[in-house]
Amino acid sequence: MCRVSATHDEEASARVAATEANTGAPTIFDKIISKEIPSSIVYEDEKVLAFRDINPQAPIHVLVIPKLRDGLTELGKAEPRHEDILGHLLHASKIVAEKEGIVEGFRVVINSGATACQSVYHLHLHVLGGRQLKWPPG
Ligand code: AMP
Repeated sequence: MCRVSATHDEEASARVAATEANTGAPTIFDKIISKEIPSSIVYEDEKVLAFRDINPQAPIHVLVIPKLRDGLTELGKAEPRHEDILGHLLHASKIVAEKEGIVEGFRVVINSGATACQSVYHLHLHVLGGRQLKWPPG
């Protein structure tokens, strides 16, 4: 996730990632969904997978993703047909917060596009908590 004061490296990496954003190329998350590479799964149902971020920005940092990307490389590509999965992802984020014991106070973040430092082009919700979070974000 993009830090409050993103370095030029992070911004450059985000720009590079964006060049492949809409090629339909698989991302690291496809390998996590297929269990080809390991992840620490927190919650799973037929539509979504939630797993711990490898580079946590808070004591609790979980990513919630649709198992079927269906064109949702980023939130900015959402169409009316995605309404059900978008609602499902948000509700799954609340279930994750409950399971992680942070439902009294947590944050859900979606970085959409290079300007927001998105680095993986498979829609994902960051569920963050377990410490006092600051506002505004960077
Ligand atoms: P974003 O910058 O919003 O696109 O977020 C992508 C997130 O994916 C970052 O917070 C990364 O730390 C996380 N990430 C990348 N690879 C993995 C992985 N193999 N397992 C868990 N999280 C990952």
